[in-house]
Amino acid sequence: MDYSLGDTVEMKKPHACLLPNGKKANAWKIVRVGADIKIECTNCHRLVMMSRVDFNKRVKRILILATESDQEELEMKKEKLNDPTRNRFLDYRE
Ligand SMILES: [Zn+2]
Repeated sequence: MDYSLGDTVEMKKPHACLLPNGKKANAWKIVRVGADIKIECTNCHRLVMMSRVDFNKRVKRILILATESDQEELEMKKEKLNDPTRNRFLDYRE
């Protein structure tokens, strides 16, 4: 599966938090792509970090592809310019 920074994905297991309609939240935004993947629950904004291997096992599908402005905004938030893992990771195939 291809994914990149800023995409919103659905995971195999929903988050424990509930949406206003009573359903479990299951939309996560990818906020960091490096050696580890960091995702943010779009409902409660909790951050979860996991290895790429774990992420690839747990992700179900992409819900919303990131726009360029999403990606630029996230790139700007990155802590270190020299971080070798900061490049977008586009080529992964399961
Ligand atoms: Zn949540």
